[in-house]
Amino acid sequence: MTSLTRRNLLAGSAAGAAALAASPALAAAPIAGKQAPSIYRYKIGSYELTALYDGTWFRKIDDKFVKNASGAEVDKALADAFLTPGIVPTSFTALLVNTGSKLILIDAGTAGQLGPTTGMMTGALAAAGVEPKAIDTILISHFHPDHINGIKDKDGNKVFPNAEIQVPAPEWAYWMNDATMSAAPEGARPQFLNVRRIFRDIAGETKRFESGKEVAPGITSVAAYGHTPGHTAFAIASGNQSMMVLGDVTNHPWLFARHPQWQGVFDTDGAMAAETRKRMLDRVAADKMLVQGYHFPFPASGYIAKTASGYEVAPVMWQPM
Ligand SMILES: [Zn+2]
Repeated sequence: MTSLTRRNLLAGSAAGAAALAASPALAAAPIAGKQAPSIYRYKIGSYELTALYDGTWFRKIDDKFVKNASGAEVDKALADAFLTPGIVPTSFTALLVNTGSKLILIDAGTAGQLGPTTGMMTGALAAAGVEPKAIDTILISHFHPDHINGIKDKDGNKVFPNAEIQVPAPEWAYWMNDATMSAAPEGARPQFLNVRRIFRDIAGETKRFESGKEVAPGITSVAAYGHTPGHTAFAIASGNQSMMVLGDVTNHPWLFARHPQWQGVFDTDGAMAAETRKRMLDRVAADKMLVQGYHFPFPASGYIAKTASGYEVAPVMWQPM
């Protein structure tokens, strides 16, 4: 057997290219340059879940991206995952739950406000055959813009006109408090203002829930504080199956699951976020529970295995239902 080296691979492909050039072209197909709208369906008990891909933000980072790790350490973690140093590809995947009688959306996407490679959820929903007006309930994990901006269009109208919006009570208490906004560091101010842009005129109709409550049939809110003061995960149970929607318990898993002690610049309370991350990941690893992570690579679900130094994600395998 001949061994495949880079050199003979290239030589082989050159010979192949020459052979191809000699044969007549069947058709000149245009280069597409983009993905099709991306959805992925799976089941938990009798519930049908649809992962809705909203895009990826290629976030340029500096050496302050992780508060308690150096830029070199973060770049090494990126390189270990075959990613480009200095750039964290942060993808966004919302989750639609069809209980059979209700359509529940967990988090609302970016509304394309993180650049042209984001804001694909509208197309994903259409590909899933779901009209925005058919959504009954929206559950919000926390108030960072990439999770709430999809609630409103650019003119300030509701994208999901018939949905009851439910948010974590401690999240509302923190972000909507004017005194907290005044006391917050200058850099955090745009996020407080964004929360007001989204919620001010729908405050009366926005329902606030505590943790540990059944917020929709089979869906329970789970306190996962730290990333933000009211950051909430959701446990979904149907029949004898269950899963955990982790929200931002870990951002990019090849960074923050492999290095669970790392405190991202986006965490309101980095130490608490790290503690919550370890507690939640320990639990889902021990229970061998399927998880969904908003910033995991699409379709953003898999299982968590505990390793000597952290956790590893075993992504679900794309498959027919
Ligand atoms: Zn997020």
